Amino acid sequence: MIRDPETLTLLLASISRFVAERLVPMESQVAETDQIPDDLVAEMKALGLFGMSIPEEYGGMGLTMEEEVMAGFAVAQTSPAFRSLFATNNGIGAQGIVLDGTQAQKERYLSRLASGEIIGSFALTEPDSGSDAASLRTTAVKDGEHYIVNGTKRYITNAPEAGIFTVMARSDPASKGAQGISAFIVEKDMPGLTLGATDKKMGHKGAHTCDVIFDNVRVPASNLIGGQEGLGFKTAMKVLDKGRINIAATSVGAAERMLRDAIVYARERKQFGKPIAEFQLVQAMLADSHAEIYAAKSMVLDAARRRDDGLSVSTEAACAKMFASEMCGRVADRAVQVFGGAGYLSEYGIERFYRDVRLFRIFEGSTQIQQLVIARNLLRETA
Ligand SMILES: Cc1cc2nc3c(=O)[nH]c(=O)nc-3n(C[C@H](O)[C@H](O)[C@H](O)COP(=O)(O)OP(=O)(O)OC[C@H]3O[C@@H](n4cnc5c(N)ncnc54)[C@H](O)[C@@H]3O)c2cc1C
Repeated sequence: MIRDPETLTLLLASISRFVAERLVPMESQVAETDQIPDDLVAEMKALGLFGMSIPEEYGGMGLTMEEEVMAGFAVAQTSPAFRSLFATNNGIGAQGIVLDGTQAQKERYLSRLASGEIIGSFALTEPDSGSDAASLRTTAVKDGEHYIVNGTKRYITNAPEAGIFTVMARSDPASKGAQGISAFIVEKDMPGLTLGATDKKMGHKGAHTCDVIFDNVRVPASNLIGGQEGLGFKTAMKVLDKGRINIAATSVGAAERMLRDAIVYARERKQFGKPIAEFQLVQAMLADSHAEIYAAKSMVLDAARRRDDGLSVSTEAACAKMFASEMCGRVADRAVQVFGGAGYLSEYGIERFYRDVRLFRIFEGSTQIQQLVIARNLLRETA
């Protein structure tokens, strides 16, 4: 759903300008230093990028899902590490509060998330519970007006920068499955919360993950999301449905960028006396990539519109995430191929994208988990 085409066009133009003029020139520096410079972060805040999906009443833009994926296509025309910094505030690190938080929780945290004053992280994964998220072992034991949280979360995006964490923990030890899980807002300064060393990753340099360790952290009962126990896993899955559409949009944007770079290179690079773009076997790689990007983009827009219409998008979000992230991997592979030897060298940048986009097929539910979600829903609907 697009509320006001004129405002949206202006927003997309300002994002595209920022990406082209400020972020693209900084890609290799950020990859080398593993840091996004403070002045760029300040510009991201000024542009409102931390609050795109937070409601307007809390200082965000309140974008609809369709508007948000269009912004996502624009943002993803550069290294995904830039997006990663503000993505959790728009997505998994804030949506638990947006979707299911109490009024007091919204008032306490959302405006600070929208402005980028604090970063929100989403802490679901644990050392022994990844794809099987419902088996998580972090505990939250009620103690008067507090919960005592113990456990370790793994690979948490933006944890080194985060001010708050949405933490899924087992509040009912008797229940081993999803029903016993509740979601909490845990502030980084709460005693007993510590961070592991920053992870050394294949890509996404400039974006950081690490373990988050909870050792008898006393969390006020008022920080139980929604004020009711046992709803945490449902909250996490709702957050991930939206997150999956956003990862799909990011995959589309990144694939568009890689294809554009490959076309520019193919026009310039000459072999056998002519640009390699004139060879039909090279053209096939460009054409296949374009067609697949078009298909993925159509899926993302359709899933986004359905969500805006209030429909359940569990299947569509999984389809879009699976197809778009796998498509992005194929486009990355072809782009490296079009570049030939240059594709393997870091100075041309395409190998960096190749490594960066590999993540899209793994996090927020791997491709295999999307297949399971799609099949489970299909079989349930046709029973
Ligand atoms: C850079 C990065 C950032 C991340 N950010 C966050 C974050 O912010 N918050 C958070 O909570 N988590 C985060 N994660 C964790 C991520 O969501 C998990 O890594 C992912 O869900 C997979 O879990 P796992 O790594 O434990 O793999 P596993 O679950 O061990 O899976 C290993 C392999 O087995 C396959 N597999 C597992 N179960 C099945 C099955 N039933 N059928 C078929 N195949 C199966 C998987 O598809 C995969 O190929 C992040 C991870 C990375 C790498």
